[in-house]
Amino acid sequence: RTVYVNGEYLPETEAKVSIFDRGFLFADAVYEVTSVLDGKLIDFEGHAVRLERSLNELDMQSACTKEELLGIHRKLVELNEIEEGLVYLQVSRGSDGDRDFVFPSEDTKPTLVLFTQNKPGLANSPAAQKGAKVISIDDIRWGRRDIKTVQLLYPSMGKMMAKAAGADDAWLVEDGYVTEGTSNNAYYVKDGKIITRPLSNDILHGITRKAVLRLAEEAQMTIEERLFTIDEAKEADEAFTTSASAFVMPVVEIDGAQLGDGTPGPIAKRLREIYLEEARAKAI
Ligand code: PLP
Repeated sequence: RTVYVNGEYLPETEAKVSIFDRGFLFADAVYEVTSVLDGKLIDFEGHAVRLERSLNELDMQSACTKEELLGIHRKLVELNEIEEGLVYLQVSRGSDGDRDFVFPSEDTKPTLVLFTQNKPGLANSPAAQKGAKVISIDDIRWGRRDIKTVQLLYPSMGKMMAKAAGADDAWLVEDGYVTEGTSNNAYYVKDGKIITRPLSNDILHGITRKAVLRLAEEAQMTIEERLFTIDEAKEADEAFTTSASAFVMPVVEIDGAQLGDGTPGPIAKRLREIYLEEARAKAI
């Protein structure tokens, strides 16, 4: 694989980042994951805008312009011949060559790393045809989940807890209400209504969430943005999650309770279809 590090395209075995990099020592870094379908980028603009916001919220410098970023994404997709897959991007605050809680001086160069992941069958995934089983776990993450930082240890542990319980993923619950999935936004459907938590600092402002809610509205579906409990979701007709890497993923079981007939629901399936159709049509 050819990867990108601070202005250079290199074989992955030759790419280097300092051991003092604050991304490595303090998780002082933000990231984005952009899907590739038909060799083209899905919603690059949305990811670029959110990256800028994450950087601003953490007083971190932009590593390069949006146009340069687009160029790097495209070049990596081309060099690695990605038809379906992902482009991972990470910007960290870099380092001035030592470990210190205090941020390094303003002129310290951020570290910009990008790599691709080849995922044939990303859009036509058997997992989406089957639907996901989720368990609920306590949300003990920090209070700025709207910033897409690389502090992913707890979400990672959540996935492991799900696997140990024979499920696919975990939904996080705080003060009795579902926040989101380990790496996706969460929704349930009852009597034709789509319910999802409103945007705040408690959840990531999903790029896919924004597109899917717009498409649902355009399709005259009813949406309610409000807090909801895991017990409500367990009584749902259907449920689903959204993320840039899994699009719309039907959920068929929550904490052992089967939803509907235990297969992906019609609204989740329809939203997945119309999301993918538009994403492909608008890809760049
Ligand atoms: N919520 C969390 C915690 C995530 O990590 C992600 C994606 O990585 C999402 C939601 C979905 O966001 P997006 O649709 O932008 O991928």
